[in-house]
Amino acid sequence: MRPARASIDLDALRHNYRHARALGGGRALAVVKADAYGHGAVACARALEPEADGFGVACLEEALELREAGIRTPILLLEGFFDAYELASIERHELWTVVASPWQVDMLERHHATRPWRVWLKLDSGMHRLGLSPAEYLPAWRRLQALPWIDTLVAMTHFARADELSHAGTGGQIAVFDAAVSQLPAGTPASLSNSAALMAWPAARRDWVRPGLMLYGSHMLDAPRAEADALRAVMTLESQVISVRELDVGQQIGYGGTFTTTRPTRVGVVAGGYADGYPQYASAGTPVVIDGRAGELIGRVSMDMLTVDLTDHPQAGVGSTIELWGPRLPVAEVAARGASSPYRLLTGLKRVPRRYICA
Ligand SMILES: *Cc1c(COP(=O)(O)O)cnc(C)c1O
Repeated sequence: MRPARASIDLDALRHNYRHARALGGGRALAVVKADAYGHGAVACARALEPEADGFGVACLEEALELREAGIRTPILLLEGFFDAYELASIERHELWTVVASPWQVDMLERHHATRPWRVWLKLDSGMHRLGLSPAEYLPAWRRLQALPWIDTLVAMTHFARADELSHAGTGGQIAVFDAAVSQLPAGTPASLSNSAALMAWPAARRDWVRPGLMLYGSHMLDAPRAEADALRAVMTLESQVISVRELDVGQQIGYGGTFTTTRPTRVGVVAGGYADGYPQYASAGTPVVIDGRAGELIGRVSMDMLTVDLTDHPQAGVGSTIELWGPRLPVAEVAARGASSPYRLLTGLKRVPRRYICA
């Protein structure tokens, strides 16, 4: 069997969730959209269900996958609904939904509900992607409040640059949000923070936080924060050396001959490539872990294979374990070397089997 695999440490996932929840000080919606950022939504939701206050997914299809697997915890549709046909399913499966556009308010007004609904009304506080503008927000709130079957309205917004610790944008978004919610009934539950805001912007911690990436042990904060040091990597992407080659000085390796040896070099060929989700444009020198010791990628990454420098790893050979990212090698570090991001690498995991580990 091809040795490439992704091990998923469910204890680390639970640890990160507890850390996020404790930091937030209120309730925490575990974001498991995009198949739990590549970690497997059903397995992750099952691991977190006993303690999670709720789950966040992108859409109805993702929510139904969890309900069909027996997950009974509240689930929020972060992108809301896309057409009126979805409303019956949302109601039947007791899902919570974001409302972020006036047309969605129109649609809810035409709906005949038989059960109470919980709606998270999203304000565009400056990201300018989804959400109602500050001028649209209060009128939309009043229209939803007038529907007798809506029993809870949560005020929410989302940050554009919370991972930039010295950027003024996040403080500005918090101020826009606070001005909008000051017009709402006292005690209205609020939710602002994604992972980055939860770790770096204490002023944005309110009733609900919405951690995603940090649950999986990664972050993109642009400066050190103790809150991020406590995270544990959940996924280990690893494979093995399947062939070894000794090259003289001046030899080229792989497609395009982009790497030329500058010393006699032992090259290890690893069964793992961009079709598994490893970044195709990871540059020579990108870190890898060779039998537990720091090493480097050399040559261009191909679809099914990549090459590493074994010259300084004389004990390593065919069968050696190569960690491509994981507890010893943050996925964000690999992403930074490959014009990518930890979000993209984790959600882009493909083809490799996932193995779940828990104590
Ligand atoms: C994806 C998402 C999150 C989680 O974001 P992270 O940066 O992964 O923590 C939170 N809120 C909303 C609305 C989202 O779409």
